[in-house]
Parts: sequence; structure tokens; C-alpha cells
Amino acid sequence: MYKSFLIKYAEIGVKGKNRYLFEDRLCEQIRYALTRCEGEFEVTKSQGRIYVNALSAFDFDETVENLKTVFGVTGICPVVSVEDEGFEKLCQDVVAYMDQVYPDKNITFKVEARRARKNYPKNSMEINCDIGEALLNAFPEIRVDVHKPDVLLRIEIREKINIYSVVIPGPGGLPIGTNGKGMLLLSGGIDSPVAGYMISKRGVKIDAVYFNAPPYTSDRAKQKVIDLARIVSKYSGPINLHIINFTDIQLYIYDKCPHDELTIIMRRYMMRIAEEIAKENGCLGLITGESIGQVASQTMQSLMATNDVCTMPVYRPLIGFDKQEIVEVSEKIDTYETSILPYEDCCTIFVAKHPVTKPNLNVIRIHERNLDEKIDELVKTALETDEVIEIKYQ
Ligand code: ATP
Ligand code: MG
Repeated sequence: MYKSFLIKYAEIGVKGKNRYLFEDRLCEQIRYALTRCEGEFEVTKSQGRIYVNALSAFDFDETVENLKTVFGVTGICPVVSVEDEGFEKLCQDVVAYMDQVYPDKNITFKVEARRARKNYPKNSMEINCDIGEALLNAFPEIRVDVHKPDVLLRIEIREKINIYSVVIPGPGGLPIGTNGKGMLLLSGGIDSPVAGYMISKRGVKIDAVYFNAPPYTSDRAKQKVIDLARIVSKYSGPINLHIINFTDIQLYIYDKCPHDELTIIMRRYMMRIAEEIAKENGCLGLITGESIGQVASQTMQSLMATNDVCTMPVYRPLIGFDKQEIVEVSEKIDTYETSILPYEDCCTIFVAKHPVTKPNLNVIRIHERNLDEKIDELVKTALETDEVIEIKYQ
């Protein structure tokens, strides 16, 4: 029975010029999500509203599922749109609507009419009363409750008349592309895909970088990261994934630095390289999946040592999350099953038995000097290995 959806979005902060940007980006992302659905659709802006109209047969559930991935959408309302053919006809249409959508009439309702077209012969109050009456006459069991109705039935008088009462919650957030771009350090773990999801929820477009360590890490591990990026791109829009060969840098650090500081020094080089790539690609910040105290490299002292090499802001949206809370989000966004596949990653291979948990920044800086001879060259070479994969969810 539905051929259209009215898309609700929060309008806070999107007044004036920003509003167009916001709405255009939202339409763009809705179109991107709909490319994954059977059927043909048009996405239109009209009188401060966004509509998705089906131009062919479509799968309702699949369409709703995909619309739910669009940041900025707060509600998805399946709408019945009817021509204005007089009030009598409207009452019949509304009765038919309620009959189909609510087979069980043991419910309370309230009508809320809005006129965008003020030349309609009845005002909103009259529409509310008269449609209410038509429903009470049609269904003896149904009752009115103006305070806490089970069903809030909306009638919008526009060029056409929209009838709707179901609001399916969207993910909220802001449309991708309204807040610049960030570079996600994406590993094959549970945390970083969730971090990418959370930052992109705030309207940030993301690119990603993965530090690969062949032959110590396998192609399966790399494929796992590609798969994770693909799932994140369902929400974030297309991602350029940079794959950097990090092996020689790791081996060099292993050779020259105290083993209990390997992870910290390695992480400092990851951040430095990520920042280089971020700058080259117009990113305004780095994003990681770090959370205080989760592992030795994420104590306050370790984070300080890692952060020390960054000049860009580093966004760590999971910083105050417990592991279980992160797992819950990863299950919700569907990255969990992929994240727990047991492939080796570059950090686990070179990890020390007893890594420092409270690194001293000055000591780290001094030990890093052991790398002076070759490290610049190795970083340069690593940057040259950059393999960029364009990732889209389709
Ligand atoms: P994750 O589950 O995201 O792998 P983690 O708990 O394993 O995180 P670490 O291995 O200490 O934690 O990594 C901390 C953060 O550093 C990750 O969340 C990620 O953002 C980044 N990171 C770690 N390893 C890599 C890698 N091989 N490539 C890119 N980024 C990485
Ligand atoms: Mg990891």
C-alpha cells in the first residue's frame, strides 16, 4: 500500500544556508543507500521535507533497512499519498488506511492535521475533529486519547495529502559530508570499525589506513580489513582504504629498540604515517579505536606517548567505553562477526611478553634515536607502498 516515505531529520543547527547543504547531503546519502535496494526510487526535496518515492515495485523491508543506515535520518515514515478529491473522499481514504495498518482496532488514537496549503476549506482543528468522528463511526472499538494515544495519525494537506502514523527510528547523527573528512586507523580488530562508525555518524566522511606486515600477516588478514571497511562504508559512504606495507619499519624497530617499548614506538610511527596520508588527502583529523586502559598501549601514559607525535587532532570516540559496550555497537553495525575472525595482525606478531604500561615519554624519545640512521628512508618507502582501494557497499 505504501509508495512513499517521508524522511524526518533533526533540524537543530541547520538553519539558513547550512540547511541546503544538510538536505542535499542527506538526499545524496539516501540515494547511495537506495542503490542497494531492488526497485527504482526518486528522492525529492519539497517544502522543507524529503521524500523517497518508489517508481517501481520494491521490497518494503529491504528499503527500510537501508534507509536506517543513513546518518541524519531521525525517522522513516511510510506515507500514503492521496489526491485532494474532497473531504468526503479523504475520510474514506483515512478509514481505509487505519483499517489496513491496524487490524486490531482496540487502540486509542489522535488526529493531528497540518495545512501547508492554507486555502484548504477546513482548518486543522476541523480536520482533526471531522476525521476523528469518521474513524469513531467506522470502528466501534476505537477510542480517542489526546494525551497518550497509541496511534498519532498525521494528515498533511499539501499539494497532495499525506497520511501517516508509523515512524520507524533512523540512526540520527548528521549527513556524511557536512563535517569534513577524517582518517581512520583501521585494524582488523573490534574497536576501530566501531570508532569509524561513530565519527562518521557526526557527518564526517572517512578514509582509512591499514598497516600491513607481510609475510608476517597474511592476505586473509588484509582481506578481513577490506571486508570491515566495506561494512563500515554501508553507513559512512565510500571509503578510500590505504594499505601501507609496515614490515620493514617494524623489523627495524625490533632490531634497534628495547622490546618492551616496541608497541609504543611502532604506534608512534603508525600515527606519523597516518598523519602524512591524512594531510595529503585533505583529512582534518585522525580516528582510532583506543579506549583508556584496554591494553598496555592504551594507558594514559601510553596514549600520551602515542599522541606526542601527532599534530592533528586525534579523535578517539571509544575512549570511555568498556569492551562490552564496544562489542554491542559492533554487533549492531554488523562488524563483530568479521572482527573476531582469528587472523594475525601486525601488532600481535611483534608484541613483547611484558610491554611497558607506563612508558616515560623522554625515554621513548631517546630510544627512538636508535632509529635515526634509516627510519626516514623507511617511512618514505612505506609511503610509496600505499595501495589505495576504493570501497563501496553494494
Ligand atoms: P582494534 O580492535 O581496533 O584493533 P585494539 O584493541 O586491538 O584495537 P590496538 O591494537 O592497541 O588496540 O590498536 C589501537 C588502535 O590503533 C586501533 O583501534 C586502530 O585504530 C589502530 N591500529 C592498530 N593496529 C593497526 C593497524 N595494523 N593498522 C591500522 N590501524 C591500527
Ligand atoms: Mg588491534
